[in-house]
Amino acid sequence: MGDEEQRAKEFDLRALDEIIKGTVEPAAADVDRTGAFPRAALDAFGQAGLLGLISSREVGGLGEAHRAAAQTVERVASACASTAMVLCMHYSAVAVIEAHGARPVREAIARGRHVTTLAFSEKGSRSHFWAPVGTATADEGEVRLDAEKSWVTSAGEADSYVWSSQPLEAEGQNTIWLVPADAQELSVPAPFDGLGLRGNNSAPVKAVGVTVPRENMLGADGGGFDVMMGVVLPYFQLMSAGFSVGTMEAATQKAAAHVAGTKFEHLGTSLADLPTVRANLARMRIKTDMCRALLGDAVTALEAGRDDTMLRVLEVKAAAGESATEVTDLAMRVCGGAAFRKEVGVERHFRDARAATVMAPTTDVLYDFIGKAVCGLPLFG
Ligand SMILES: Cc1cc2nc3c(=O)[nH]c(=O)nc-3n(C[C@H](O)[C@H](O)[C@H](O)COP(=O)(O)OP(=O)(O)OC[C@H]3O[C@@H](n4cnc5c(N)ncnc54)[C@H](O)[C@@H]3O)c2cc1C
Repeated sequence: MGDEEQRAKEFDLRALDEIIKGTVEPAAADVDRTGAFPRAALDAFGQAGLLGLISSREVGGLGEAHRAAAQTVERVASACASTAMVLCMHYSAVAVIEAHGARPVREAIARGRHVTTLAFSEKGSRSHFWAPVGTATADEGEVRLDAEKSWVTSAGEADSYVWSSQPLEAEGQNTIWLVPADAQELSVPAPFDGLGLRGNNSAPVKAVGVTVPRENMLGADGGGFDVMMGVVLPYFQLMSAGFSVGTMEAATQKAAAHVAGTKFEHLGTSLADLPTVRANLARMRIKTDMCRALLGDAVTALEAGRDDTMLRVLEVKAAAGESATEVTDLAMRVCGGAAFRKEVGVERHFRDARAATVMAPTTDVLYDFIGKAVCGLPLFG
């Protein structure tokens, strides 16, 4: 890639905003209503180089990292949370592929021709993603994978899955693989029909005897836990927080616009003239701004290698995820019965916001980790 082409592929928030306005927003209601996968948005992100946002420049990517990824997910979430979560899971998987994958797939991602995702959660170990029960066994020079993955965003739509299994031969908690999504032995047993994030295809994926070359191992055999904690966790936590902040921002703005513009004709006043309504809007604004500030600090801690980085990374998803359920609940309250219908637009944010609290590491697990960290106990064990 020449210098000029590379220069043209800078991370540009205006280009991102153009795609949001031109492609994501117009499709958002339909994605939510029908559960359609946001393919047009992904194509637009690919063409703009944004699927390669965190791919290194050496393979043709934009060479950005956590800050840009969290910012991108936040902006997209304010328009369409389903599209934002597809991006969040894509970047989480790209981080692993960038660290341990082969050059051709890294280049395909950077060129916008390859969408990927994480396939960690399983039917057997549920939200304890670090402990897969699915297996990897040596099979005539290749590796056979068997598993029942319980939730995979972009299931049946992504080009590859970053997949966890028990170790092949080594000691350790798990091993990570790159699994091509077109493998015959993979199936999506049931379509996704969720409360929120309806355009995500977050469906189960079953593998019965999928074979992959040993070179598809991402990292060391038995070393998956380190990849999950060292590579995936910071990206996922920060982007999940961005997702929640974007959702809160949109709900707060829509609620403010509704109360300012909605009249009691018999009194000649608006909903915004009610002190309780204003106080609840103030609480929404404060929570949103607090979470955005905490997210900024978490990213700064990570970039600076501060001692409190792990604590901030753990805190930020729990804080933003829980705040988003509170803020969107308040949005439903201040907008009254009107919020129950689609036209005010806040009921979708209320539904979408709930996912972050139960996506692993779930809020309750994070509280346990943070409590252990605060008490000076080991996080695992
Ligand atoms: C929209 C959506 C998209 C998703 N996308 C993906 C994806 O792309 N890839 C992927 O791998 N996974 C994905 N997941 C799965 C997600 O990460 C979790 O694994 C899943 O939501 C857990 O659901 P469960 O029913 O198995 O929870 P369970 O494990 O059954 O948990 C039930 C409750 O128990 C609590 N709990 C469990 N363990 C503990 C503990 N040790 N301490 C305290 N409380 C605990 C949980 O917090 C929760 O409240 C997705 C989930 C959703 C909702």
